[in-house]
Amino acid sequence: KLHNTILELKGNIRVFCRVRPLLPDDGPAAEATVSFPSSLELAGRGIELYQSGQKYPFTFDKVFDHSATQHEVFEEISQLVQSALDGYKVCIFAYGQTGSGKTYTMMGRPEAPLQKGLIPRSLEQVFQTSQALAVQGWKYKMQASMLEIYNETIRDLLSPRQINATEGGGAGKQYTIRHDADGNTFVSDLTIVDVCSIREVSNLLQQAAHSRSVGKTDMNEHSSRSHLVFTLRIYGVNESTEQQVQGVLNLIDLAGSERLSRSGATGERLKETQAINKSLSSLSDVIFALAKKEDHVPFRNSKLTYLLQPCLGGDSKTLMFVNVSPDPSSVGESLCSLRFAARVN
Ligand code: ADP
Ligand code: MG
Repeated sequence: KLHNTILELKGNIRVFCRVRPLLPDDGPAAEATVSFPSSLELAGRGIELYQSGQKYPFTFDKVFDHSATQHEVFEEISQLVQSALDGYKVCIFAYGQTGSGKTYTMMGRPEAPLQKGLIPRSLEQVFQTSQALAVQGWKYKMQASMLEIYNETIRDLLSPRQINATEGGGAGKQYTIRHDADGNTFVSDLTIVDVCSIREVSNLLQQAAHSRSVGKTDMNEHSSRSHLVFTLRIYGVNESTEQQVQGVLNLIDLAGSERLSRSGATGERLKETQAINKSLSSLSDVIFALAKKEDHVPFRNSKLTYLLQPCLGGDSKTLMFVNVSPDPSSVGESLCSLRFAARVN
């Protein structure tokens, strides 16, 4: 009985945990993990963290260890991608500290086919499936947009203006968010691109990566402090049955979740810190309120949650990846990430 209640509470929210492999850049403690007692242990859907002799167990809908390939991870989400073609609104997030594998999970290394991430794989599936459905009379129209939320400000990554812009280019634009009664979201001035082939989308992804890096001396640093939101809108019409579907697929590479200390941070850095803390905590509040079916869901507390509002509530589907680094020096941050994920799970 209790078990049922928990499942009902969970609704359409799932949490997958992914632990990346150890990397040569991980700290000296990592090199010694072979002889040290490991700081984390995985078994089935469980993950246990060890810190200062204490054991912290967590359970998620799925746990991927260091050996999980991009293909294997995608297999587990392909149903969700499919449901966007069936007319659902879907959000897939990557949450975790900087360096835990969020971008690898979402984007991967697009130049290495085996290491492509969820975004390119999802797009390939959407195009392949939509073509396969053509024999049943389905015709699809797809529209893509890509934006970044930095310091609670939206930046259009597909704007033609961004391409040549220097730092702060396009900053004069106020991208205001509006929702209509049918749950459609409009961001004023945001570039929306019709896409008909996987090749076009690859170009868009490249363009976005370029826009994101313009004027940035340290691309990793910048990307770890902003949220990236890729949105694919899918409009389907069946020419023989006149059935219509409208689905949305949102793929979100979140800002790094590391606890940024307020002390010492000043000026721009303090502002960034506050913006990231605010938006990640409001994301957690929103998902928590939705899972508990609370009457009031605080969507308006951050740009990210307000933007995604129609895609988070109702019968939409949400998946959160919590990315974890196996480096023993990250155990404190990993614990925070897993607690965040456990709260929304
Ligand atoms: P984040 O986006 O969370 O800051 P990244 O995705 O950039 O982290 O990952 C940090 C580093 O670890 C990158 O060099 C990335 O290629 C590598 N990496 C992350 N996950 C994996 C994985 N599952 N397999 C191999 N390398 C990975
Ligand atoms: Mg990243």
